Amino acid sequence: MGLTLANYLRFEWARSTMMILFGGLSEEDAMPGKRADVISWDEFFMRVAIAASMRSKDPNTQVGACIADGDHRILSVGYNGTPMGLGDDEFPWGASDDPLHDKHSYVIHAEANAILNYRGSLKDMSGATVYVTLFPCQECAKTLVQAGIGEVVYLDDKYDGTIGNQIAKAVLDRCGIKYRKIDLPESAMH
Ligand SMILES: [Zn+2]
Repeated sequence: MGLTLANYLRFEWARSTMMILFGGLSEEDAMPGKRADVISWDEFFMRVAIAASMRSKDPNTQVGACIADGDHRILSVGYNGTPMGLGDDEFPWGASDDPLHDKHSYVIHAEANAILNYRGSLKDMSGATVYVTLFPCQECAKTLVQAGIGEVVYLDDKYDGTIGNQIAKAVLDRCGIKYRKIDLPESAMH
């Protein structure tokens, strides 16, 4: 059957309508019901870590962590804060030369809290990925190794090159734990 003018016009109308609706996507991409511009898993878990950091009462450094397993399930989240029972409302959130009055003596870091908050079997942590807004300190690096974490994904590495940072990286390197930095769009950062 030849292409009549009416059929041709009908085809053109359908094609231009599809272009308007789907912006020139191929027929396969334009399957109804599926969004193509979803955020990646990396971005999703890092956004969860950022959300956790927003719970931190620390006036200077807010850090969040999210642990996800290989099936993209969130195992745990944490942020830097005081131990349970040590009220973070009355807590002196300043640094001091006196360790008794220095917040650093009391605060548990985000990654450590994420591990400690987990109520399932630690076996689940084996090979899991931790998303952290700040590169782990040397103490957390060791804790992550012992928990069986397989990969560290971080946003910021503001202590890059300091002794503690070098130790943290040496620990991760020697224990075969990968680490990589990701960047998020500015709109995801707040
Ligand atoms: Zn730490």
